[in-house]
Amino acid sequence: MNSFRDLTMHEARAYTEVNGPSLVSMNEDMVLAARKENPSLGAYTHFLDDDGLGSKESPLSGFHGAIKANIAGQGWPTHCGSRFLEHYISPYDSTVVARLRAAGSRFMGITTMDEFGMGSSCEHTSLGQVVNPWDRSRTAGGSSGGSAAAVAAGLAWFALGSDTGGSVRLPAHFCGVVGLKPTWGRISRHGLVAFASSLDTIGIFGRDVQDVHLVFQTVAGRDLYDATTLEETVDPSALETVDNLQGLKIGLPEDLENSQWGADVSRDYHCSVAMLRDLGAEMVPVSLGSILDSVAAYTVLNCAEAASNLHRFDGSLYGHRENRKSYIESLSQSRNQGFGKEVKRRLLLGAHVLSGGYRKQYYLRACAAQQDLISQFQKLFGKMDLLALPTAPTAAFALGSRLDDPLGMHLTDILTVPASLAGLPALTLPTSLNSQGLPLSLQLVGPACSERLMLEKARVLEELIGFRKIKEAPWNLHI
Ligand code: GLN
Repeated sequence: MNSFRDLTMHEARAYTEVNGPSLVSMNEDMVLAARKENPSLGAYTHFLDDDGLGSKESPLSGFHGAIKANIAGQGWPTHCGSRFLEHYISPYDSTVVARLRAAGSRFMGITTMDEFGMGSSCEHTSLGQVVNPWDRSRTAGGSSGGSAAAVAAGLAWFALGSDTGGSVRLPAHFCGVVGLKPTWGRISRHGLVAFASSLDTIGIFGRDVQDVHLVFQTVAGRDLYDATTLEETVDPSALETVDNLQGLKIGLPEDLENSQWGADVSRDYHCSVAMLRDLGAEMVPVSLGSILDSVAAYTVLNCAEAASNLHRFDGSLYGHRENRKSYIESLSQSRNQGFGKEVKRRLLLGAHVLSGGYRKQYYLRACAAQQDLISQFQKLFGKMDLLALPTAPTAAFALGSRLDDPLGMHLTDILTVPASLAGLPALTLPTSLNSQGLPLSLQLVGPACSERLMLEKARVLEELIGFRKIKEAPWNLHI
């Protein structure tokens, strides 16, 4: 019996309470299925032996989650998708893992990712290759592609990823699952391997909005191990059930249409907007202006911060080491052998934009553009509660199709980087399938710390759409 694979965590719990199999047996089946099906999917690079039922009476107790390979757990291979850390074992738990453990969660395995989070397709890695569960010739997205694929294929109840410029939202969009990127500082980054610290967030994948909320409530909130976490308390109560969006103002960009977008994305977006209107939301026309040009600033900033953060990988402290006669030689050989092409590309660009002669021209201008974007968003949130955008210009693209086109790959993030640069929460909600049977989605962006409002309102649309019931969905195929 494995019909549980179309269930969410809250449904599974309710189901076992009535007459279904026990949670332990559902989990055992999922563990077996994950090990059996992973070789052709590639969502996991490592499995963790973490069986049994959680001891705590929390809504997450006993459920297996998948964890991205840049989030530390004691004794786990936190390899970050990099040869450099291929044999690195974490000596401690990140705060998110510690909080999940305390809530009785179990951990299924470590998921495939782009090296240090740099990528949009999980193809920039030497460790593993994940494919899209809806169409195995396509990418699952990146950089948290393994986590999204695991949830979409019914091989984890929930998953953690990281989102610096869209790495939770893009794979959620490609794989047809719900993905939340929280406000910067809302979820502790203690134990997350840094990529671009001022943008990095730990995000959540779930099969529906309510599951994402359950995980959010468990891991979010102030943490003494991360001085950048926000004081804002996390409401422990369940999401309120509402059946309409009366009184909600949703920003509808007037300057969004772009010839590079697929007609499917455009159609789906208009359809979602019509549904929001039908549910009673007031659509407020807004102009995004230069917000839509933020990829340029994002490119400079993420490379600059990565160049600084990845200095710690010098071959002497941890990770890959090439022993040579001098420290400098060992350092350069360790980095040369340990890092892949995309990481090297970004480190070079980062060093360049931070260098004496170019700092003003690139780095400081990007910082100014970021400040400008933050104030533009602040003004916009004076007239709307949430902003509605597509998540990406296209549905999942074919594996290999953008590998030789770094710029094309970066432009995939055009609609996700604005919320990242402004530190705002954003949610990807699956909406429909295109004519090739690939998922599409709607992205909602809210003001700082509006996760609860966003999830509550998204749930109303989710109910109306009923995406999880699509019978071709990977989680329904095994029933
Ligand atoms: N795809 C983006 C990049 O390559 C975002 C990555 C991320 O969010 N980690 O920079």
